[in-house]
Amino acid sequence: ATAARQSLKIGLIPADGIGKEVIPAARRVLEAIGSDIPKPEFVPLLAGWEVFVRSGTALPEETVEALRECDGALFGAVSSPSRRVTGYSSPIVALRKELDLYANVRPVISVAANPEEKPAVDLVVVRENTECLYVKQEQLVPTENGKEARATRLITERASRRIGKMAFEIALGRPRKVWLPSSLPRIIVVEILNLFARKIQQVTIIHKSNVLSVTDGLFRETIRQVPADANGRYDSVKLEEQIVDSAVYRLFREPQIYDVMVAPNLYGDIISDAAAALVGSLGLVPSVNAGDKFIMGEPVHGSAPDIEGKGIANPIAAIRSAALMIRHMGYTNGADRIDRAVDQVVREGQVLTPDLGGKSSTDDVLNAVLKKL
Ligand code: ATP
Ligand code: MG
Repeated sequence: ATAARQSLKIGLIPADGIGKEVIPAARRVLEAIGSDIPKPEFVPLLAGWEVFVRSGTALPEETVEALRECDGALFGAVSSPSRRVTGYSSPIVALRKELDLYANVRPVISVAANPEEKPAVDLVVVRENTECLYVKQEQLVPTENGKEARATRLITERASRRIGKMAFEIALGRPRKVWLPSSLPRIIVVEILNLFARKIQQVTIIHKSNVLSVTDGLFRETIRQVPADANGRYDSVKLEEQIVDSAVYRLFREPQIYDVMVAPNLYGDIISDAAAALVGSLGLVPSVNAGDKFIMGEPVHGSAPDIEGKGIANPIAAIRSAALMIRHMGYTNGADRIDRAVDQVVREGQVLTPDLGGKSSTDDVLNAVLKKL
C-alpha cells in the first residue's frame, strides 16, 4: 500500500558484472518518471563477489544498516564462484533473511506484436522464499548399507498464509482479463465467461499433496483458507490448484491458462525459471523480493561475465524490476508508464540489444525507453 511519502529512498546495489551496467539504467528511468512517484533519493551500496574479494565480506554490515533506512532497493547481480569458497555466501540470500523478504515475485509477459492483441504469456509466479527444502537442514547418516542423506522440509502455516495473501493481492492488482457485469450473479458469470475466455483474475496453488500430504497438504489448506478469512475482499479472484508436475506440463502447452501461480520454495524456484524460458531472453525478465515493509527489485539474470564491460547488456529486466518495485509500493501509474514505454521499444524492434537479435547498446535501449516516457 502507498504510504504518503515525501521522498522515496532507494538503495542501489549494482554488485557484480553487468549489474553495474543495468542498475544505472534503471535509476535513470526512475528519475525520469517525475510526479508519478515521490522524488527518488538514491543510496549507492556495496555487496557481492567483488567486494568479498576486496574486503572478505559479500554483504558489508553498512549495506544492511543503510537498507533499513530505505523504502526499497534495486539489486543487480552477483557472480558466483565456480567452486566453494570459504567464507563466501550469497548476499541475496542473506538480504532476504535480514529484511524478511519472504516472497519472490516474477511476472512473465510476452510482448505481442500488435498492442491490441493479448500477450501469449502473461502470468506471475509468486514463490515462497523462506522455507521448504531451503531451510538447508541436511544430514549425512552412515548406515550398514552405505551413506544415507536426509533433508528437512519445513512448511509453516504462517509462511503459507502470508504468501497466499500476497498472491491474492497481486491477482487483485492485475487487470481483469474479461468483462464482468456486476449486476448478474457472479459465480454463474465467472463460470460461463471462463469457459470461453479461460482467463480471469485467478490464483493457482502449485503443490504435490497427493504424495506429500502433510507438508504440501498444509501449504494448500492454508492458502485455501485465505479468501475465506478475507471478508469478501478476494471474491473476484478464482482459486485453482494444480499438481506441480502437471502444472509444468501445462505451463509449456498452454501458458495462457495461468494468472498468478503460488508455490512453495522449491517448486517456485523451478517454475519461475521455466516460465522465464517461455519469453526468450533472460534480459527481459524482472523480479522483486518482497516483504511487508521492504521491496527489492532484481533482474532475473545473473552477472553475465561473457558480456561484461561490452556495453551490450540488455537493461530491460532491470528497468522492469524498477517498475515492479514501485508497483508493489502502490505507484501503479508510474509502473504502468514504464512498462508501456518498454513494451513500445520491444514491439517496434528498432533498438534492441544483441540478446534479442539487435545491434544496439545498453545506452541506446535506455535512451529509447526514456524517449517513450
Ligand atoms: P551467473 O553465475 O552470475 O548467473 P551466468 O554465466 O550464469 O552468470 P547469466 O547472467 O545467468 O550468466 O546469463 C546466462 C546467459 O544469458 C549469458 O550468456 C548471458 O550473456 C545472457 N544474459 C543474461 N542477462 C543478460 C542481459 N541482461 N543482456 C544480455 N544477455 C544476457
Ligand atoms: Mg546464471
